[in-house]
Amino acid sequence: MLRVNINGASHSCAAGTILSALRRAGVRVPTLCDDPRLAPIGGCRLCLVTVNHDPRPVAACTAPLADGMEIETHTATLEALRRTQLRLLARHYPREALDRPATNEFLYWVGKYGLTSELGTADVPQRIDDSHPCIHVDMSRCIECYRCLRICEEVAGRFVWRAWGRGDRTEIRPHDSLPLVESNCVSCGACVDTCPSGALLDQTARHQKLPTAEVRTICPYCGTGCEIYAQVRDGRLVGVRPVLDSPVNYGHLCVKGRYGWEFVHSADRAARPMIRRGESWEPVAWQEAIEFVAGKLAEIVAQHGPQAVGMLGSSRATNEENYVTQKFARVVLESNNVDCCARVCHAPTAAGMKIMLGTGAATNSFDDIEQARTILLCGVNPTENHPIVGDRIRQASIRGARLIVIDPRRIELAEHATVHMQLRPGTNIPLLNALAHTIVAEGLCDPAAIAHVETWEKFRRFLDDFAPEQVAPLCGVEADAIRQAARLYATHKPSMAFHGLGVTEHVQGTEGVMCLVNLAVITGNIGLPGSGVNPLRGQNNVQGAAHMGCDPGVLTGSVPVAQRQIFETVWNSPVPTRPGLNLMQMIDAAGRGELKALWSIGYDVALTNPNAKETVRSLRSLELLVVQDLFLNETARVAGTVFLPACSSFEKDGTFMNSERRIQRVRKAIEPLGESRTDWEILCGVARAMGKGDKFAYRSAEQIWEEIRLVWGAGAGISYRRLQGPGLQWPCPSEDHPGTTILHREIFSGDNRIRLRAIDYRPSPEQTSDEFPLLLITGRALYQFNAGNMSGRSKAGLFQPSDSLQISSCDAERLNISDGQKVRISSRYGQVELSAAICDRVLSGQLFATFQSTAGWVNCVTGPHRDRFVQTPEYKVCAVRVERASD
Ligand code: SF4
Repeated sequence: MLRVNINGASHSCAAGTILSALRRAGVRVPTLCDDPRLAPIGGCRLCLVTVNHDPRPVAACTAPLADGMEIETHTATLEALRRTQLRLLARHYPREALDRPATNEFLYWVGKYGLTSELGTADVPQRIDDSHPCIHVDMSRCIECYRCLRICEEVAGRFVWRAWGRGDRTEIRPHDSLPLVESNCVSCGACVDTCPSGALLDQTARHQKLPTAEVRTICPYCGTGCEIYAQVRDGRLVGVRPVLDSPVNYGHLCVKGRYGWEFVHSADRAARPMIRRGESWEPVAWQEAIEFVAGKLAEIVAQHGPQAVGMLGSSRATNEENYVTQKFARVVLESNNVDCCARVCHAPTAAGMKIMLGTGAATNSFDDIEQARTILLCGVNPTENHPIVGDRIRQASIRGARLIVIDPRRIELAEHATVHMQLRPGTNIPLLNALAHTIVAEGLCDPAAIAHVETWEKFRRFLDDFAPEQVAPLCGVEADAIRQAARLYATHKPSMAFHGLGVTEHVQGTEGVMCLVNLAVITGNIGLPGSGVNPLRGQNNVQGAAHMGCDPGVLTGSVPVAQRQIFETVWNSPVPTRPGLNLMQMIDAAGRGELKALWSIGYDVALTNPNAKETVRSLRSLELLVVQDLFLNETARVAGTVFLPACSSFEKDGTFMNSERRIQRVRKAIEPLGESRTDWEILCGVARAMGKGDKFAYRSAEQIWEEIRLVWGAGAGISYRRLQGPGLQWPCPSEDHPGTTILHREIFSGDNRIRLRAIDYRPSPEQTSDEFPLLLITGRALYQFNAGNMSGRSKAGLFQPSDSLQISSCDAERLNISDGQKVRISSRYGQVELSAAICDRVLSGQLFATFQSTAGWVNCVTGPHRDRFVQTPEYKVCAVRVERASD
């Protein structure tokens, strides 16, 4: 610590800048170019201070603190200088804007220095760009602090804003002087968030009064789990801004987090319970809806047994709600038929990593990105699907980290990659084995790690068949690229692997994850900062939903049903032992008439499951389909019996678990809309109606969490009190445990033994043919989210209002398809029509489509093939034919 004197008072301060010391000491000086997210530039000259009585002032934001400094902050000279500086900054500022209430930092300081009435210029020409649906630009209010430009470079890594001209003629505009909406802006709103002058504003903020409250909570979209402030006025959400001190997003958000909240107040929000009578939905009282569901469930269980009912938890619901869901299935319905949408995304990750490492979750933290020297991205597209992680990876690469990208498409981060292997869809296994082969053959393994491998010789011999030259033609990748990637990953360490659904949504999904673990183990890239195997989980609480026990085989904390004793004690109820059905098996059983009732919470099965025709047929075979959601989704529309209106995450308390195992608090910002209720309250209501109310007598989310702590040892140390700050990563077994940022630190020590897996390649049954010559990959994109139920009702969704089909220019030309043209896609399972988007991100012979809406309903063409370990569908390989829709 440094001893300094500030305005005559002695202070003990940590090293840093003078400005940081002033802030810690509670001394406020004006700043306009400073933002804690940005490198200081000392540009606005408002934070001038004198040091050791030197008459030449220094900018506090750039000057380093030194021991013994005597700092003066508000001498008459300094204050006069600040007034002069404010006059300079305001020389082009519109007079009429100065007359408005001080709604930004600049107006605040102008007012504070008593300059409001004397500054500003009349008749400043407006420089408005209103092209962007989320961001209003009025550069007549720019004070040239360059914060927009700097945050776009230093945080978002996008370089949208540029300074044009010099001196007094400097103007800040998007690159190529394009309207903002036509630039390469990704609408993250970081520039708006930092702008101190009102030159950049959220469109929504222009037409409403300032928020009266801000509630710290979690973004409702992806598994990154960014922390946000939900801004509230008059009981309504009016905006979102990022939390600066969040260890996940450090004051940054993507377009969905910042501009994807309006779905909450959407006019078609279904906020009343409803029962389907014939073809129409009839609103009913809660009591009637609950009694209807309870009565039908009891009747079906009595007639057909507990195997005839199933429940689906939700990645949209909190940990507490998913815990209550699986407890309801097991205690009230006496069935292990409970699952969640992890089945259709990262169940292979949980299985593969648990088999090999003992824990089915990310080994490291997002903070390791900045420590990795090599980052391997396999079947994952972070800049679109986990944009804050993507931005951190892009910044890491700009600073020198090397990227290896394994993806059939030329994803955005491939532009930064040292090696991009554009493999043929479905050939992950031979490619990953070829990387391992090269590492072993070239002697690049980590000897200390190999010493702990118990099947080393067998594994080494198995790899003989996977020389890069052998697999290159199969994978469509150059052998040299495989060798280069292998050398980089093995030697330029630490190397951190991220993977996504491009690994898991294959018939060998679980085995693909195991191959990634093989690579990490043989190179010693486990248990160290900047290393590990890290799934990027799709939806915000999908990790938590499965981990809370919405899985037929495991209870809360991934405890096998066979080890159920603690649950039976805490629940004071037996846990059924008959193996349960997973989601895919439930849909199959419904199709066979064996499953009679399904309760689907926050999950649009009909829209998002593959092979939609069969899925819908199965759903229509059910006697009871309870849909619990914010909207009458496609599942409700095609086959729902009862609709129960649920709350969004802005309307409830609880916790989410992000991709790096971090438990974070979800906090209620507004009251539940209409008659909607939290998922746990609905479940408890039905449990009471079914005579099990004593086991579901919860009064708050925290009370449920306290019960979770009793049954989940690795989360026992995580209390709501400890979650007031930035969350905790499990394992965290006791109240004095700091949480675990890196798993498996001891893996290569002592007597630990690791078994590698020899994974043979088994080609997908889904092969191209003369009739279906192209391979379709499905996935998400930046502006929409999964089923577009939320993003499609928000400004974020305006940028991509409908699904489209990415097709290479070469295939488009061959098929006589023009950009934007309607095309028909046919597979062995169905047909859909989409607009073609000609782009060179996909190779000839391959296609890519999103699946956000029923207008396209892309899952009408995806097929029935599944991973053999966990039955995750193979969304990433589908043989299709494409033709002009008009032909
Ligand atoms: Fe939300 Fe994910 Fe975007 Fe963060 S990266 S703001 S969690 S959608």
